[in-house]
Amino acid sequence: MLVRFWGTRGSLPVAQQADQISGKVARALVAANGRRFADEAEALAFVKSDLEFSTGATFGGATSCVEIEGADEAFIVCDMGSGLREFGLNASRRCAAGHARIYHVFMSHLHWDHIMGMPFFAPAFDPGATIVVHSGHPDAEQALRRQQEEISFPVPFDWLRAKFEFITHEVDKPFPVDGLTVTLIRQHHSHDSFGYRFERDGRSVIYSTDSEHKLDDMDSDGAFEAFFEGADLVICDTMYSLGDSVSLKQDWGHSSNIVAVDLCRAGGAKRLALFHHEPTYSDRDIARMHAETVRYEELVRGDRPPLEVICSYDGLEVAI
Ligand SMILES: [Zn+2]
Ligand SMILES: [Zn+2]
Repeated sequence: MLVRFWGTRGSLPVAQQADQISGKVARALVAANGRRFADEAEALAFVKSDLEFSTGATFGGATSCVEIEGADEAFIVCDMGSGLREFGLNASRRCAAGHARIYHVFMSHLHWDHIMGMPFFAPAFDPGATIVVHSGHPDAEQALRRQQEEISFPVPFDWLRAKFEFITHEVDKPFPVDGLTVTLIRQHHSHDSFGYRFERDGRSVIYSTDSEHKLDDMDSDGAFEAFFEGADLVICDTMYSLGDSVSLKQDWGHSSNIVAVDLCRAGGAKRLALFHHEPTYSDRDIARMHAETVRYEELVRGDRPPLEVICSYDGLEVAI
């Protein structure tokens, strides 16, 4: 399986501002320290190898959208955040080269940041495309139709040409989708959210965003530890630092990097991807949180095998 991140930001899309780009260029020039480069390729190699990621690149600003490559022929997508627009353009090119025009989309929930990419999803206008929307919510179709009503958007849902199908699933009942086995878990979030476990040939990927894990809720912790068990990759809502999540932002429906590490370790997961980044965080803030999470994992590791902590960004690909 291959996991491709198209949108990793939480709550609201963000874009880099002029002064943030200028800051990156200035830091790069200081780091180059007068060094000369023969051409752009040589300079780019320096950017990739010598600069910190937060200086030479960006975590990106599109909201939740993750592709999982590994079904028999269909596209597998988690959530329709603003990252869905870029995914749709890329998928259309792959379809032109022969890829099946079948899309299975798994909705964590129906909050705006997880559906806002839908009106800009090019395959929805393709009469040869089939889009199957899988959800734990029976009101998924209503949510998608409502955001395209005239008062909010000029193109009504009924103008879309793809064939749509909506399927509501129950939790804890694995079902097959094009070669994958998929299981849902209910998560603590306003109007509920659902996490997904995707499995194939002994490999597993968990998509668990917009879920508030309470520090003192042992029953819930046990259910998630079991859900995460032995996963090759857990994509987890780590919107806040632990300090924020237990003080300022308790009951806001999101989790911390620390809780995510604890649950992954208890479940014996192999890799954790930090996800749903707080929109007010700069690239340097996100990089700092990543470094803190890696340090925390090292501190609590003991004699157990390490949990690799990666930080998702728009454009990241992870082979499973
Ligand atoms: Zn969200
Ligand atoms: Zn939400």
